[in-house]
Amino acid sequence: MKTALTIAGSDSGGGAGIQADLKAFSAHGVYGMSVITAVTAQNTVEVRSVQDIETSIIKDQIEAVFDDIRVDAVKIGMLSSAKTAETVAASLQIYEPAIVVLDPVMVSKGGHHLLQSDAISVLKEKIIPMATIITPNIPEAEVLVRGNIQSAEDMMEACRSMQSLGAKAVLLKGGHLNGEPNDLLFDGEIFTWINGTRIHTKNTHGTGCTLSSAIAANLANGASLIEAVQEAKKYITLAITHSLEIGNGHGPTHHFY
Ligand code: PLP
Repeated sequence: MKTALTIAGSDSGGGAGIQADLKAFSAHGVYGMSVITAVTAQNTVEVRSVQDIETSIIKDQIEAVFDDIRVDAVKIGMLSSAKTAETVAASLQIYEPAIVVLDPVMVSKGGHHLLQSDAISVLKEKIIPMATIITPNIPEAEVLVRGNIQSAEDMMEACRSMQSLGAKAVLLKGGHLNGEPNDLLFDGEIFTWINGTRIHTKNTHGTGCTLSSAIAANLANGASLIEAVQEAKKYITLAITHSLEIGNGHGPTHHFY
């Protein structure tokens, strides 16, 4: 059985973060493991509080997994602070995982900051260069490239500039722009549009986590980059179409086993 490791935050409400990642891995027939970077007290409405895990414990979790178990793909989500990002970068440098999918999580749908601003430079200088693919949404890409993204041309330029930070490929998700949620994949040479149709629902909690984990699982299972992204887009579309009316806020995506 193929394996995947998520390095991310815990969502007590079960819709995003580590919990979404592990559900997505299972749904793809991949054995999931987790390194928890932060614990959030969260539900479908709000993030109430966040406790960062001590960096020594983050390092120990990464080492415990890699020293014993083959890791076919790594997915990185919420890194919370600069020192957590530094720790993850330093620990992963030892093991040099072949596949790293980075979801550069910054702010929750409810507006809670999940990455401190001084961690952005660590993300750019130490984590992005390790990534096989990064999966920013428009607001995250705007922070990474320090620019305004409004059109397809802007998306192409942003992909070029993010890829030059050292990631092998970039999937820039277009869902925050008006119109259909068309995503743009750039592998350093070729641009591929992965088109979608907007699904009108408020139940979109954990979509970014789910998409990036589905990409990691597909890559672990041996898919090419483009296949991994195209299949993950189908999976997230289905997961949002059948998202759950759980709680009073943004309900979670539905995972299909
Ligand atoms: N909470 C955690 C721990 C996360 O990792 C994420 C991921 O992006 C979120 C919340 C954000 O969830 P959303 O913005 O999809 O509601």
